[in-house]
Amino acid sequence: MACIFCKIIKGEIPSLKLFESEKTLAFLDIGPLSRGHSLIIPKHHGAKLHDIPDDQLAEVLSVTKKIAVAQGVQDYNVLQNNGRIAHQEVDHVHFHLIPKPNETEGLGIEWTTKPADKGELQKLLEDIKSKM
Ligand code: AMP
Ligand code: ZN
Repeated sequence: MACIFCKIIKGEIPSLKLFESEKTLAFLDIGPLSRGHSLIIPKHHGAKLHDIPDDQLAEVLSVTKKIAVAQGVQDYNVLQNNGRIAHQEVDHVHFHLIPKPNETEGLGIEWTTKPADKGELQKLLEDIKSKM
C-alpha cells in the first residue's frame, strides 16, 4: 500500500502523534500553516469523505474537538479537501485543524460569492432531496 498516511498508521514512517485510538489517529502536520496545525484521520483507508464509514467519521470529529480544546485555540478552521482540484494532495481522508492566531497566519480564504437565482435554488433543493 503506497498510502503515506496508512504508513504513518502502521508506524512505517514517523509522525508526531497527538492522539491514537482503535479508529482514529491525530498528528502534527509537517508543513504547518500555523503553529499547532494538526491532521486528524480515520484509520480506515479511503480517499474521500464518502468512502469512510460513519462510525469512523464521527470519532474523527470528536477527536478534532478534543485537540482544539487541548490547544486552547479560540479561532481556528477545520478543513477537509476532496479531490485534486479541491486541493487534496494526500488520498487518505484527513481533517486539518488550523489555528488562526491572527489575520495573517493560518488559513487564508478567498470566498467569492454571488447572489443565487431563487428558482434555480429551489430546483436544486428538490433534486438533492430526491436522491437522499
Ligand atoms: P491536503 O492538501 O488536504 O491533501 O493536505 C495534505 C497535508 O498533509 C499537507 O498539509 C501536508 O503538509 C501534510 N503531510 C504530508 N505528508 C505528511 C507527513 N508525513 N506527516 C505529516 N503531515 C504530512
Ligand atoms: Zn491510507
